[in-house]
Order: sequence, then structure tokens, then C-alpha cells
Amino acid sequence: MVEIFGLELDKLIEEFKKVGLPAFRAKQVFQWVYQKAVFDFSQMRNISKADMEKLASNFSLLPAKIKVLQELQSQDGITGKFLLELEDGATVETVLMHHDYGYSICVSSQVGCDMHCSFCASGLLGCVRSLTKAEILVQVYICNNRLKDGNGKVARIVVMGSGEPMLNFDNVFGALEFLHSEDTANMSYRNMTVSTCGVIPGIKRMTELNHPINLAISLHAVRENLRTELMPVNKAYPFVWVIGVAEEYAKVTGREVTYEYILIKDKNDSQEDAKLLANFLKFKHASVNIIPANPVPEHGWERPGAMRIDKFLTVLNNNHINATLRKEMGTDINAACGQLRNNYLKGKKL
Ligand code: SAH
Repeated sequence: MVEIFGLELDKLIEEFKKVGLPAFRAKQVFQWVYQKAVFDFSQMRNISKADMEKLASNFSLLPAKIKVLQELQSQDGITGKFLLELEDGATVETVLMHHDYGYSICVSSQVGCDMHCSFCASGLLGCVRSLTKAEILVQVYICNNRLKDGNGKVARIVVMGSGEPMLNFDNVFGALEFLHSEDTANMSYRNMTVSTCGVIPGIKRMTELNHPINLAISLHAVRENLRTELMPVNKAYPFVWVIGVAEEYAKVTGREVTYEYILIKDKNDSQEDAKLLANFLKFKHASVNIIPANPVPEHGWERPGAMRIDKFLTVLNNNHINATLRKEMGTDINAACGQLRNNYLKGKKL
């Protein structure tokens, strides 16, 4: 069986040729899979019975082999979370959100994570492996399959789930380029966001690619020691350099960089921190997204109260930094990075 999910059209045509299937069949299969989210050859109605059988006996489609272990719907009515089991038994999380402009999806790029940010649930168990390009795409297409009855489709993608996308560069950007193609999802690069903890070589490669993909940087602290404490990656790639490289990205691509800043009570949430942050980002093509920390029980930290959050935002805005507070979604369904998978794995061990 040859796995064909995620193959480019020209590669699919080649594979089909080997078993005597004409090129137009590849185009038809492409439409069924990537435009209609159909993963069962027997449902591809414009294909002859003989060719359908040939397809089924020679080829497989990954989405049909993925188990949805859990599917949770938040009480907010707009956030859904999937826990998927991959072929080797590894588990990943995907979040689907319904905004007024359409559906957006938050995909994982790795099974677990090795960055060990001290507030994050994904890294608690380390990184098992990177996802393949097909496994990144499968998260989008499982959602599209769920949405197709209501004529819905994922319109935006953020690579902000578990894992560090820059450490799986080829597969992450390969998947995004695939989704951009007219023959598949025809998704604009402007509707895609890649979030990194600040892996400089990855940001530079992204600059060389020069697609208008949105870049988000997880900053979370602007004091050297504190950032290293919260995010050990700061030792290898100090945040001041990261801001410099990200500014270069903004210059080359014309896209504004978003800085994510989690507020953790009594850690990084003072007005002095806000002032420092504003100083670092002044005159940059950048905005700030404030995220009240999602408490991860294993870490024991809390989020600040509403007043303190508001003060932090006010300092930024008074210093001419465009800052917004991230709307919370899906807290009741463990929608913070890695929490659902952790709880699932913990349950398995009991
Ligand atoms: N490795 C990438 C992408 C995954 S993390 C990165 O670091 O950007 C996606 C975002 O969720 C990051 O900004 C991360 O810092 C944030 N995050 C992780 N744990 C969180 C928590 N407990 N509360 C709020 N945000 C969290």
C-alpha cells in the first residue's frame, strides 16, 4: 500500500501511472480529498468501479487511518478540541475555533515539545518526535471533514499547538505551501500564522522563503534572567537578537510581527515590565497579544487579576504599542497547549 495523502499532484500522477491509472484520475482524487474532504475511494462517485478497486488495493489515505480519541466541544459553543491518535500510537491535539470570519484551526507541529518553557503543558513530557507534513495536513482535513455538512471549511491556520515549528521547518512550511496551492485549500498565506519561541535560524529561513505568512514570537518576558528562567531557549537565542531578526522579517515581507506575552501573577506582570516591553518594541512593525496565563496545575502559577491585566495593557497603549488581550476560548476543555494530551496520558498510566 502506498500512502498518498499529502503528495503533490505531479507525484500523485507518477504513482498512479505505475499501476496504470491515467493522470486525470489523479486530478479527480485530488479534488475529492483536498476540496471535498472525502477519504474513502468508494465514495468518489465519478470514478469507474474498476479504477476504484485499483485505488483501494494499491493506495491508502492517512485521514482514514487516524483515530479521533476525544472530541470535546466547549460551552462557549465556538471551540472544539480533538485528540488524535496517529498510526504509531502517538497523540496530538488540534483546536478548531469558529469566529465571525470563519473557521480557524490551531495545529500541532510535534508530538510533545523539547523547549521546556516553564509555564507550558506541552513540554512536560518532552518531545517524542516531529510530525510529518501529512500529519500536519491531516489535522486540517479531519476538521474539514467534520465541517463539510454545514458547508464549512478551515479558512485560517495557526501553528500554535504543541511543538516548536522551527525545529520541524520543512514539514511545517511544506504543509503550509501545500494548503496554499490552488488545487488544494487555496488558502492565502496571510491567513496563516507560525508561532515560535524564538529559534533564530528558523526565523531567518522563513525570511528567505518570503511568503506573507504571519510571524508570532512567544516573548513572555523582557528581563534577561527572567526570560531564561521562563524559557530556557533564551540562553541559545537571547530575546533582543530575536526581536532584531523578527524586525528584519517584517521589513522583507511587509507583515507585522505579533509578540505573545503571557501574564503570570507576580512574575512578569508589573507596570515596569510593561514599560520595558514598550521600549523594546517602539518603532517596530509589531503588535502585542496579551494572554492571561492558563494555569497548568503541574507548574502552580496563576494569572493576575483583571485590574492588573488592564493596567499592563494601558501602559503599552499609552506608549503607542498596539496591544490586545487575547479572547479566551475553550478553557473548560483543556484548550491550553498540551493539556488534553497530558491528561489523557496521565489517565493511561493509572
Ligand atoms: N513553540 C511555539 C508554538 C507553541 S506554543 C511557541 O513557543 O510559540 C503556543 C503559544 O501558547 C505560545 O505563545 C506559548 O507560550 C503559549 N502557552 C503555552 N503554555 C501556556 C499557558 N499555560 N498559558 C497561556 N499560554 C501558553
